[in-house]
Amino acid sequence: MAHHTSTNTAAAPGNFLRTLIERDLESGVWSQRRFGGSPGDAAHHLAGGPDPARIRTRFPPEPNGYLHVGHAKAICLNFGLAQAYGGVCHLRFDDTNPEKEEQEYVDAIIEAVRWLGFDWHSNGTSHLYFASDYFDFMYRAAEALVGAGLAYVDEQSAEQMRATRGDFNTPGSDSPFRQRTADENLIRLRQMRDGELDDGAAVLRARIDMASPNINLRDPALYRIKRATHHRTGDRWCIYPMYTYAHPIEDALENITHSFCTLEFEDQRPFYDWLLENLARLGLLAPPLPRQFEFGRLNLSYIVTSKRKLRALVEEGTVSGWDDPRMPTLFGMRRRGYTAQSIRAMADASGASKTNIWLDYAVLEGCLRADLEGQAPRAMAVLDPVKLVLQNWAEVYGSADHLEPCQAPAHPQRPELGQRQFALGAEVWIERDDFAELPAKGFFRLFPGNKVRLKYGLVVECTGCIKDEAGHVTQVLARVVPDTRSGTPGSDAVKVKGTITWVAVADAHAATVVLYDRLFTEAQPDAAQRDFREVLNPRSKAVVSAFLEPGLAQAAAEQHFQFERHGYFITDRVEHSAATPVFNRVTTLRDGWAAP
Ligand code: ATP
Ligand code: MG
Repeated sequence: MAHHTSTNTAAAPGNFLRTLIERDLESGVWSQRRFGGSPGDAAHHLAGGPDPARIRTRFPPEPNGYLHVGHAKAICLNFGLAQAYGGVCHLRFDDTNPEKEEQEYVDAIIEAVRWLGFDWHSNGTSHLYFASDYFDFMYRAAEALVGAGLAYVDEQSAEQMRATRGDFNTPGSDSPFRQRTADENLIRLRQMRDGELDDGAAVLRARIDMASPNINLRDPALYRIKRATHHRTGDRWCIYPMYTYAHPIEDALENITHSFCTLEFEDQRPFYDWLLENLARLGLLAPPLPRQFEFGRLNLSYIVTSKRKLRALVEEGTVSGWDDPRMPTLFGMRRRGYTAQSIRAMADASGASKTNIWLDYAVLEGCLRADLEGQAPRAMAVLDPVKLVLQNWAEVYGSADHLEPCQAPAHPQRPELGQRQFALGAEVWIERDDFAELPAKGFFRLFPGNKVRLKYGLVVECTGCIKDEAGHVTQVLARVVPDTRSGTPGSDAVKVKGTITWVAVADAHAATVVLYDRLFTEAQPDAAQRDFREVLNPRSKAVVSAFLEPGLAQAAAEQHFQFERHGYFITDRVEHSAATPVFNRVTTLRDGWAAP
């Protein structure tokens, strides 16, 4: 399996969005904007003072699921650019589709954005908004469009509307309802609003051009009838705006300057402009109007980010929930041990471009190691333990129960973090694969006749092992080599080629350690119509009973450590407690991924 390098994205990435913001700031297009202090229509903003924000961006999630690492890209981009240019970024819930949205998701999204390190407060004002708060304005705008002959109520069936829309090669044809008068349309629209028509019996459509080469301009639907209880407005409405109608209005009411969205919305841009320009002409919105710009989606290798597929993993029980540490949701990644800083660094490293990007997962892991290397306290941990018995311990130290105090720096480059204390005794746990009865060429650790150093301890010489009837090694035997205590004069007079990690049986802290790995074995799990379930990594999770350094008994919730030789670990935010310690492996020390 190919080894993944992270060098290809290390160079400063292009970011065309910065260029265009700088161009706008230079030309002063936004400098005359006024702001009413909160979202509102033209009158509201014109009554306010100059907008204190040089630019306004927004992150507009739909509260229909948990945020994933792709959303992190959009969050970092919108909040990051606002920060960089003296602007403000709004957190806006695009909650115009009542059937799929829930308060649970709203709360989870707020927590995830905060955790990532972003804030929607500015000068004491919270810029946390809900599109559903704009339903009144949206309806008023719909009546205004109807009054101006720019929208009509179409009572064709969904089937008929589809058939008359045409396609890429064929122009659409006009609905028989297209020529209704404004007065007739207004009556009909009010009947829609007042619940006098059945679900699906009519839609409000923009009147633009059924022959437009851009299918999005062939009289797109603005409102539909849907009797559904909304998580915030309850049963107040039985008509709901379509996303393409709602989104530009949300941006305009909030005085957004730059509306950044992903590439699939490029064809919607002409409608975005059509709608806002008409509403400005009708006096409902004040120019300058927001402008939409598209950037490429971020995809990471070895994961899937579609909400539908993530939901399938949860509902089919493949993972334990939205916050399973293998999930690419922000909750899953946080629980796994990814730091907010590492995710932000990865998002920055991916830049912004006009094409969708596939980023090597190793880039994220590289960002994580770069963040944790300087911070995470070190510790020794034995993950696959076998007992090593030091046969001459009593002889050397006068008693089989004697414990030698040992110490090691909490962090090799950060003396201010102090020393870790632990003991060495007659019996210690070592990694099973640090012993070989018959060593392969180049194996320098324990085998009969060989000497190794127990790190921070002393040198031992292997004398053999004890096996059970099945030939399985149950104990490794060795003898202490006198005068080799680490930190004492002349301790390195005995030269060894191998150093191994260990934990004394007497003071070991028993813990559950969960070794997580990638959820998929293929870089693009859902490429070419493949069912991502076919490429699940059967070894994405292994639970082991480990022995840790005694100091780890004090580990707090969500604390990171580097287990020497093994990688970075974190205490599990859900399951860890002093009584039931659970440590998750975030990643190994080096990029050593190989598919099973
Ligand atoms: P999904 O396809 O996973 O359901 P979505 O785009 O439908 O995602 P939204 O809640 O609408 O989910 O997304 C909020 C914002 O995040 C949007 O502006 C969207 O463009 C952006 N976003 C979502 N996924 C990515 C991604 N992979 N890369 C960059 N931006 C993304
Ligand atoms: Mg979406």
